[in-house]
Amino acid sequence: MDTDCIGQTLMDVQETKSISLRSGILAKTPEIFSRYFPGQKAVIVADENTYIAAGRQVQDLFSAAGMPVCEPLIYPGKPLLYASFDNVLRLAESLRHIDAIPVAVGSGTINDLTKLASHRLERRYMVVATAASMDGYTASGASISKDGFKQTFSCPAPVAVVADLDVMIRAPKPMTASGYADLLAKNVAGADWIIADALGIEPINTRTWDIVQGHLRESTEHPDLLSSNDPQAFFRLVRGLMLSGLSLQHYQASRPASGAEHLISHLWEMAETTHGEFSHGLKVGLGTIASAALYDRVLARDFTRLNVDRMVNAYLSRSEVEAVIRKAFSNPDVVDSAIQQSMAKYPEPDEMRIRLIRLKEQWPQIKTRLQTQLIHAPEMRDMLAAAGCVTHPSQMGKTTTDLLKAYRQARLIRNRYTILDMAEEAGCLEDCLNELFSPGGFWAS
Ligand SMILES: [Zn+2]
Repeated sequence: MDTDCIGQTLMDVQETKSISLRSGILAKTPEIFSRYFPGQKAVIVADENTYIAAGRQVQDLFSAAGMPVCEPLIYPGKPLLYASFDNVLRLAESLRHIDAIPVAVGSGTINDLTKLASHRLERRYMVVATAASMDGYTASGASISKDGFKQTFSCPAPVAVVADLDVMIRAPKPMTASGYADLLAKNVAGADWIIADALGIEPINTRTWDIVQGHLRESTEHPDLLSSNDPQAFFRLVRGLMLSGLSLQHYQASRPASGAEHLISHLWEMAETTHGEFSHGLKVGLGTIASAALYDRVLARDFTRLNVDRMVNAYLSRSEVEAVIRKAFSNPDVVDSAIQQSMAKYPEPDEMRIRLIRLKEQWPQIKTRLQTQLIHAPEMRDMLAAAGCVTHPSQMGKTTTDLLKAYRQARLIRNRYTILDMAEEAGCLEDCLNELFSPGGFWAS
């Protein structure tokens, strides 16, 4: 099982020094800890589930090695721990009184809480991964809910990651499905970066691109094998997730791994105040199909005949965008944030004209790049279904009307240029949505 690409990437990032990815590596946790935190005391942060999965064993390994380790901090297993800012403050308060290096044993929530709490105490930390459920282990920044919406707080990634495949493969199946969706999402996220690059909004960093996209096809091509716990398929999934997180660390922003599909997921996460029944990855998976379906409609169009003047004149003014946001959201914090984010990416008429002329003149080349990158929506849906993911809004208690609303609102909440913006600016978003949701359309059945 080839981890050379991880080793090479580690030389290009600043925060994470070591990723140990293989079966049985859990036993080496104390050794890895003492390499990066020599002579320091450890404190394990886990919940009841992850403590059983690996935490207790790590605690025992430290003791058996004669290394100083505190009483573990263990959260209840039920209800599921929520990645809220209040919980970050609480954890930081507990850790403040303990002179030790946090060892997060868990997945998304435990890692994000420990990452930000450690940073607030100006401590580094390490993580022992217990599920292949998302790409955040190796990412800079913590995804935490504050004031009614998910925000990415800037903080460094862990110094060391221990990813024991034997531990991770035993995690509940929906967690693996979630990780698969979070990884496959990089297909459409990459397409969004291609557009932003082509239209002069955010150039592609080729090294970052290679980190996240280089092995993506290979890592996602056999979703069916994940349900049978195929070791090679599982290894590739975990490696893909680690590389995806590292791409964020390399780029120091989430662009490489997050496009319209994540905006749709974030929009739904805003409505949550506890750990949702459906994980981040499963929502991202549905957003990924949604994005791929929109791409299929956009790619059916011919922008070489775009009427640029008409589009520039028809585009909403700043105050009209603000009015749309005030109508779309009720939480005043969300409204303020969405206005700020939308204004930051608002194209002035001259800028928009340049953008649309590029789209018009370079459409054949842009289209070819996108066709090379993208997986069509029906295939995307089949791949996600094979991995056990959610593929229709009804499977997570939502209607197609909720999804339609998400297509319209997602672009308002973040300063990130995606296919949703391009379609809106080129004047075809509503037509595309019409095609997707009317009888015979992708979402109609
Ligand atoms: Zn994600």
